[in-house]
Amino acid sequence: MGCISLSGVPTQFDRHGDLRRAPRPHHHAHPAVKKTACGTCDRRQRGWYDRKQRRVRDLACGDVRIYLEVEVRRVACRRCGKVKQERLAFLADNPFYTKRFAFYVGRRCRASPIRDVAKELHLDWHTVKALEQQYMREQLRRAGTPGPPVIGIDEISIRKGHTYRIVVSDLIRQRPIWFGGTDRSEASLDQFYAWLGPRKAARVRLAVMDMWKPFRLATARHAPQASILFDKFHILRHLGEALDQIRKSEYARVSGRQRRFIKGQKYTLLAHRENLTLDGRRALKTLLAANKRLNTAYLLKESFGQLWDYGREGWARRFFEHWRAALKWQRLRPYEKFAAMIDRHWDGIAAYCRPDNKVALGFVEGLNNKVRVLQRRAYGLRDEEYLRLKILTCMLPAI
Ligand SMILES: [Zn+2]
Repeated sequence: MGCISLSGVPTQFDRHGDLRRAPRPHHHAHPAVKKTACGTCDRRQRGWYDRKQRRVRDLACGDVRIYLEVEVRRVACRRCGKVKQERLAFLADNPFYTKRFAFYVGRRCRASPIRDVAKELHLDWHTVKALEQQYMREQLRRAGTPGPPVIGIDEISIRKGHTYRIVVSDLIRQRPIWFGGTDRSEASLDQFYAWLGPRKAARVRLAVMDMWKPFRLATARHAPQASILFDKFHILRHLGEALDQIRKSEYARVSGRQRRFIKGQKYTLLAHRENLTLDGRRALKTLLAANKRLNTAYLLKESFGQLWDYGREGWARRFFEHWRAALKWQRLRPYEKFAAMIDRHWDGIAAYCRPDNKVALGFVEGLNNKVRVLQRRAYGLRDEEYLRLKILTCMLPAI
């Protein structure tokens, strides 16, 4: 236990190690001449209704919890027509904590689950969550309202199922700017454009998205000038799904030893090779050696990423034609479907070859991973407003 002396202030420790400043009734935090602001509507007026001492938790000093005794007034607000507590700029929305304490809690919550922060700071779980929410709202306020020239549209699934929400990102500033909708329909994306407003929508130059018709239609309606680009991450994810379908059908087709190699290897097949453990690589090698069709499918999937290396559309197209031709006689039905989809969406894929459309491809994947980590870690995310704040602030700097 550390000992702190505040000069001139009588101190006392209670048994929890809290440091308190003794109440000093003759001292007022604010001189009487200052006007008092209503905490609800911010109307300022002379005088006050009543006042009382309140204990407010502030930043700790070492492992000593610090509380401040402050005088808080209530005003009979004429605008509200009620008696309201005054607004004090240094207090958090929850008036039992200072704002800087709330921000400290918020910073801690960026890397740790609410539960851990609550335990460490001897706070209630709901209190920590509320303080963190205030911190995140302040982060958003300071980040300002965006007018993005390049947007990325993505959906995330929530509640372990087929419930979706849309996340729109500013791809130049590399941060998510909007979370909402009720599914991944056109009407849900309309809500984003309504939020953005027609003036800013008219300035969107490029919209990056999955090959998903409702997103395309909504964008064409609200931002007809914007080029549409189908991004690498989503396209490769479709290809990964096709590969997994082949894995499943092979599992159903073969028997005995062969089957054993396939079982439970979804991740091995879909992961980046460099992310696999030694065991994973070994399992992959055995699997591919044992099953010729999966081997072919795997190699084709690995090579498809080259499509984004070409500087000219003609070259990219030639690569794609070769890739598609390699599917002949291979009985890889899901791949044939995938190739047909690429063909149908070709313009939006080849758009990447234009120099001013070279957006950072890693962002969409990075954001997807971050959201998945958030969803795995936090329990408070059943609360959608909390999830929204968490996602919108996950790439903002700490304050
Ligand atoms: Zn008021």
